[in-house]
Amino acid sequence: VLQIQALHKRFGKQPVLRGIDLDVAPGDRIAIVGASGSGKSTLLRCLNFMETPSSGRVLLQGKPVGTPGPEGALRYGQVELSEVRKRVGMVFQQFNLFPHMTVLQNVMEGLLTVKREPSDAARARALRELTQVGLAEKADAYPLHLSGGQQQRVAIARALAMEPAVLLLDEPTSSLDPELVGEVLGTILQLASQGRTMLLVTHELGFAYHFATKVVFLADGLLHECGTPDEVLKHPKKERTQRFIERFT
Ligand code: ATP
Ligand code: MG
Repeated sequence: VLQIQALHKRFGKQPVLRGIDLDVAPGDRIAIVGASGSGKSTLLRCLNFMETPSSGRVLLQGKPVGTPGPEGALRYGQVELSEVRKRVGMVFQQFNLFPHMTVLQNVMEGLLTVKREPSDAARARALRELTQVGLAEKADAYPLHLSGGQQQRVAIARALAMEPAVLLLDEPTSSLDPELVGEVLGTILQLASQGRTMLLVTHELGFAYHFATKVVFLADGLLHECGTPDEVLKHPKKERTQRFIERFT
């Protein structure tokens, strides 16, 4: 689905990603773990092109996105970006729902503006996705009247409505009260059981262990260690990975 090749990202002089290579195959569920500031969010943002990589390539379904500009940096055209937005879904820590729109309107928004679907079809699709996350009865409510967990499930429904080839989730539970975390993790596991392709940034190593087909530990802008959840989270080979997981166990 995605091939990430020698991806670099600098902010000014600060290198954040220093050569990331990662293949995301259909059905992969990849958990990205690492210390705060290690570049996890930057990596996800480079994959849906909210950030422009400094160099390297990203192939989406075999096709490179963007054209190389000076120093190998990518340039994107409008067409490519809207295609990427359709194929790569994103769920944020802070939900990012539109407060002045109802739940249903939030989920329909991308279908109307990006996919240009007729509103009847968009409404039907949005209701299906809301049903899938268990929130059909909240369709006409406004986000402010929902719990954080419900808002995040709406954000997941909104991303799914676009039928993305891959879903990126950046710490989807870290701004939730503890008692609301479970319902969102439950929704994510349900998507996992459907074989969806997902990249999840998380600090919840226990969840990562159950969720992921593959775990990557990001440190110093590089994929320091990659492998199965057992390899990386239970039997890490590298000392730095060991130190990282010890803090959580
Ligand atoms: P956390 O676990 O706290 O979310 P993270 O691994 O997601 O951390 P990033 O948010 O990707 O880390 O940030 C990596 C580094 O890049 C940090 O040092 C951050 O200050 C820097 N950075 C991120 N975005 C920008 C930006 N838009 N401009 C300048 N520096 C940035
Ligand atoms: Mg982050």
